[in-house]
Amino acid sequence: MDLSSLPGLGPKRVRALNEAGYRSIVDLLYNVPRDWVDRTRITQIADCKPDAKVILIGHIARAGMIRGRKSRFTAYLDDGTGQMSLVFFRGANHWAKNLTVGSRWMAIGKVNDYRGLQIVHPELQHMEEETAFEGGIVPVYSISEVLRESRMEQKFFRNLYAQIFKMPNLSVPNGCPKELTEYMGLKPVLENLRRLHFPVSFGDAMQGRMQLKKLELLPFCLRMTKRRRSLALRGRERAIDQGAVMKARAELPYTLTDGQDKALAQILEGLHGKKQFHALLQGDVGSGKTAVAMLAMLAVCGAHEQCAFMVPTDILARQHYATLKPFFDAAGLRISLLLGATGTVERRSIVSELQMGLTHAVIGTHALFSKDVLFENLTFVIIDEQHRFGVNQREALLAKGNYPDLLVMSATPIPRSLAMTFYGDLTSIVMREKPPGRMPIKTRLVESEKREDMKAFILKEALEGNRCYWVVSRVEIDSEGGALSVGEVKEELQSFSPEWKVGAVHGQMDDGERDRILAAFAAGTIHVIVATTVIEVGVNIPAANLMVIDQPERFGLAQLHQLRGRVGRGQAQAWCFLMCEQSNTARERLVGFAGTEDGFEIAEMDMRDRGAGNLEGSEQSGAWVFRWFDWIEDQNLIQKMLDLSEEILDNQPNFDLATREKIQTWYSELPEGNDDGIH
Ligand code: ADP
Ligand code: MG
Repeated sequence: MDLSSLPGLGPKRVRALNEAGYRSIVDLLYNVPRDWVDRTRITQIADCKPDAKVILIGHIARAGMIRGRKSRFTAYLDDGTGQMSLVFFRGANHWAKNLTVGSRWMAIGKVNDYRGLQIVHPELQHMEEETAFEGGIVPVYSISEVLRESRMEQKFFRNLYAQIFKMPNLSVPNGCPKELTEYMGLKPVLENLRRLHFPVSFGDAMQGRMQLKKLELLPFCLRMTKRRRSLALRGRERAIDQGAVMKARAELPYTLTDGQDKALAQILEGLHGKKQFHALLQGDVGSGKTAVAMLAMLAVCGAHEQCAFMVPTDILARQHYATLKPFFDAAGLRISLLLGATGTVERRSIVSELQMGLTHAVIGTHALFSKDVLFENLTFVIIDEQHRFGVNQREALLAKGNYPDLLVMSATPIPRSLAMTFYGDLTSIVMREKPPGRMPIKTRLVESEKREDMKAFILKEALEGNRCYWVVSRVEIDSEGGALSVGEVKEELQSFSPEWKVGAVHGQMDDGERDRILAAFAAGTIHVIVATTVIEVGVNIPAANLMVIDQPERFGLAQLHQLRGRVGRGQAQAWCFLMCEQSNTARERLVGFAGTEDGFEIAEMDMRDRGAGNLEGSEQSGAWVFRWFDWIEDQNLIQKMLDLSEEILDNQPNFDLATREKIQTWYSELPEGNDDGIH
């Protein structure tokens, strides 16, 4: 439903709401309060203590603006027991206009002690115009700057929601079937949303939120449980070619680590076994997963069945292809490479050879999903960097085969609670060690004031033959957000010295160009590469042993770990420099990151820090983004919902056929994550 259908919303406000990300009434419904305050609990200013969250009511006794590069407006609220400073850095002009001396306000916020008690950016409500929420629980919404500028404040939203909930045909998409909510003893989604916007008590709001978490988690658990059950049903036996594995092992330029050896044995046993085998291989960056995957592929292809090896980027696909091709050649087996950029004629012949079974294995990107890519006898699917793909994509590839076995590989170790939900249907294989002879990467925080020194150091190293990645978060210039972009930094570095050659790679570049630059970098004709996270996945250039990450606070820890994994692949000491402002609030987690190279530890840190919704790759796969469910707080909800899923799939609730079908449609067709078109 369109926003303009709401009474009292002119085009200007509709535009501001759109700009703030609300495009429909459903968007607004999901914009639940970030907090609630109990109006019956008003604090006297004389009783305020540092760090307390308080609600104050009083009049403005005096106010003043301090102008400068960063203007600041301060108003003093007086309630007869004392005065509290209310400080504004943002929107100072706006508040200076509104907080006039003598006007009455309610201020909500956290008290801090900075040369006296103050509240910075309190929530404010003008008392004279107060109507809707006399007494009781008052919701507090997050209000962005653009909304504030259009004079849409707390009170506006409270009235807006009162209007919305009066609408006769209000509904939310993808609702859980009524029979199921009733069986679970839950209220429908819309009812729970109402409890968040208009709770009768604080407990009521909390219960509403808990119910939304359950309703959100359940379909995932149902899908996972169903997948796990269906795997156990099918069996197939296959002969694997141990000879091909032995031969290739002998040709490797190194011996496998114990971890690789054990993982390989587990995989071969699974491939050989009678049940369909689906596994998750977790191994930190650089632990050598590719070799394990290759040997497993040779075992299957040697027995004249087909494998598909799916990777997220062209760079990685080409790199894997180059690694695997000689081993396939030596085994007398055929492997091909299929990319989005593959030319029509070549593509046609690759596809037809796969379909006829003339080619044993294919490495490819998303191009492998396309409808015309068919196999004669696909029995093994490998997915590298699995967090880049959604579950549906993985299923689409599996559907091309004959109940294929599956190996998904991840270099972003997955915390246990997460693995339980999304990979509960996979056998877990963990490779903890790294190939020998690697020196630990030294990671240091560098203050951004030392930028010139940093450049000088990298220049000196570059001229001595050490290559450096210089990572930034953006491709294009960011005029508002202050993020550095590839072009800017490339220019900055190049103009620092004519002695070195600076290149750049990013995702919007055509593949040929990017490969050429990476090749020149590997060969040493380019000293420094300014790059975005395109290099994060799998790029393997052992001669590069320096990395500078600009504005590291803009990346997740798991992502930083991936990035850092690009260095330390050769024999020389590798360094990773995180260039960050001294005052940055992310410093603490960056220090934590600098202190360890253990990806599992970093994954846990990241999850604690930001929640799994923000773990690396969640944007791409959409699979882990939950609106309500919190990975830390709600871990024990997962097992409950998995148990409930078993119950439902066993039809313990005794639903009739039509209801069962309705439920199945609901959970299987629901888009992954909360990517349901609601923003
Ligand atoms: P990842 O697990 O991150 O995918 P890769 O498979 O890309 O790691 O391997 C990283 C590097 O380690 C490659 O250059 C590979 O040749 C090398 N490597 C793999 N296994 C071993 C080993 N057992 N001993 C020495 N080097 C190895
Ligand atoms: Mg890899």
